[in-house]
Amino acid sequence: MIPDWSELDRELAHWQEAGMTLPLWWRDDDAMSHSTELERLATLAAELDLPVHLAVIPQGVTPDLSRFVADHPLLIPVVHGWAHQNHAPAGEKKAEFGAHRPLEELLDDAERAFSALKETFGASLRPMFVPPWNRISPEMLTWLAGAGYTAVSTFTPRKAAKPASGLLRVNTHLDPIDWKGSRSLLAPEQLIAQVARQMRDRRLGEADNTEPYGLLTHHLVHDEAIWAFTAALARRLLDGPGEAWIYDERMS
Ligand SMILES: [Zn+2]
Repeated sequence: MIPDWSELDRELAHWQEAGMTLPLWWRDDDAMSHSTELERLATLAAELDLPVHLAVIPQGVTPDLSRFVADHPLLIPVVHGWAHQNHAPAGEKKAEFGAHRPLEELLDDAERAFSALKETFGASLRPMFVPPWNRISPEMLTWLAGAGYTAVSTFTPRKAAKPASGLLRVNTHLDPIDWKGSRSLLAPEQLIAQVARQMRDRRLGEADNTEPYGLLTHHLVHDEAIWAFTAALARRLLDGPGEAWIYDERMS
């Protein structure tokens, strides 16, 4: 089935008339090792010429990942929690860095995560912290900079560009996976309507268009429908107002 993109295409036409540009970025979560799915991610990034911020789980990282990343400069490693382990009590939403543990423990894990990946990836690591399940204790934000980070990324439009001194917030805005249902692609018409709405809000000044618009993917669980939709959406945005954005710590 070919999705109907007309709602987004109409919005993109308004962007063109207005002469606006959309900073566009891509975050892909849960990498630990080299895999055929990771190869596919790297191939798509090259086809689109859109870098991927690869959120790597420090505790499970293997040397083959660092070799693969070194050979693929469009893959930009960032830090995805420590062990991707849930510490929330039963019945609560999953979180590794939620307020369920003492702040000191959270910061120790964040620091350990940073040094582990610094050792794995060297200078190619960007000091961005991506908490698993996109949840982080607000108390932790003030202290993240002290643990080595200059950026934090979760999901949904940010409320503030600088949640703490020396810390930039750059969130993601669209996740195409139906996590609670089929674990395949959400209804494409629903996703297309969501992007069109988010872009209209930015065009009309009702949302912050200086925040890079983030696509969030999870290469290890993609089926064909998810790969195809991600490629088609990114291509459309890049053919229109989208300009590839890469995090650089000088921005913080
Ligand atoms: Zn994750």
